[in-house]
Amino acid sequence: MSILVINCGSSSAKYQLFNIKHKRALARGVVERIGGRSARLIHQCDSGLELTKKVRCKDHYAAMRIIVDTLTHERFGVIASKDKIRGIGHRVVHGAEEFNKSTLINARVIRSIERYSELAPLHNPPSLAGIKACSRILSGIPQVAVFDTSFHQTMPPRAFFYGLPFRYYKKYGIRKYGFHGTSHRFVSEEAAKRIKLPPHSLKIITCHLGNGCSMAAVDRGRSVDTTMGFTPLEGLLMGTRSGDLDPAAALYLMEKERAGINRVNDILNKESGLLGVSGISNDMRDILKASRCRNVKVSKRAKLAIEIFIYRIEKYIGAYQVVMGGLDAIVFTGGIGENCPWLVRRIKKDLESTLRKRVRFLVIPTDEELLIARDTYGIITKIWRKNGKS
Ligand code: ADP
Repeated sequence: MSILVINCGSSSAKYQLFNIKHKRALARGVVERIGGRSARLIHQCDSGLELTKKVRCKDHYAAMRIIVDTLTHERFGVIASKDKIRGIGHRVVHGAEEFNKSTLINARVIRSIERYSELAPLHNPPSLAGIKACSRILSGIPQVAVFDTSFHQTMPPRAFFYGLPFRYYKKYGIRKYGFHGTSHRFVSEEAAKRIKLPPHSLKIITCHLGNGCSMAAVDRGRSVDTTMGFTPLEGLLMGTRSGDLDPAAALYLMEKERAGINRVNDILNKESGLLGVSGISNDMRDILKASRCRNVKVSKRAKLAIEIFIYRIEKYIGAYQVVMGGLDAIVFTGGIGENCPWLVRRIKKDLESTLRKRVRFLVIPTDEELLIARDTYGIITKIWRKNGKS
């Protein structure tokens, strides 16, 4: 039984084909630079067989065709035909307040995802393109949407409201939504397994530290607060995003730099964060290296970026421990969280005197695709049961 997981970005389509019984990916890959002249496919099979080739790919429909052709290819394929795919799970960034869990896709769900493109203009449209391409190329196969926002829909109003006039919440849906929900859910559930206690008995803080970074307070299995907000710009210092900022600073920049909305948007999203502070790179590896370099000017800025990065994480750990009225574990995941033991040790040491001795520090690799595959399988088996199929 195979489940296809699709994650469409503005110019890429990532995929993984899972054998759900064996909980493993049979193949994975990406079609990159969709719409460009140098589009290419990178495909890897579980057997170790790999394929990288230039492709002609003008849109997400063409990308889905390439993906299905590759998965069923004589040499590089892993399934005999496309009807071996029993369900398709799509990563969708924004489900707003309508979707608090993964959902079977139908015409109504498509219309909703379309509507929430206003809230996620860079992310929802490519997901929709992927969904529509699959309904044509893999017609009849049930599709499921797994939203980045849905895990955080359990936040209470006091956590998700901003102090803006209430009418803007009503009119435009301006509130904290939070993102990376699939990752926070996956690692908090894994943490409970490792601790060998049910999730509903634990208070966990999850730290997803990749290019984008966010933390969540997961109280007895439910997200009660998270650092990202109306957009993924709020909260921690990230690769190129500023994180928390007085909104007046953005207005001041507009005035002083004579910058328009797009320019300020670029400054906050693409030129800030680790890159902006260090002036070196958005990549934590480069910054760690630079912090040890002989040039004092360079190393000082790199160290400053690292200190801000750590300070914000520690500040939110304090806040979330209070919000939940206790803490059992802190989980680190994402490229930095999984690969930078120094950072985890440093945070552990910094908090030694404030946290209870029993608080566990765990590093757990995230696997959002596996969770999407599981949710998809769960939903389609329910349909089968209802229809009397097994
Ligand atoms: P994305 O959010 O795009 O999925 P990742 O989760 O892959 O990104 O995380 C990318 C980040 O992980 C980069 O800042 C990179 O420097 C960092 N990273 C990867 N390996 C290491 C490492 N060994 N030490 C420190 N940081 C690392």
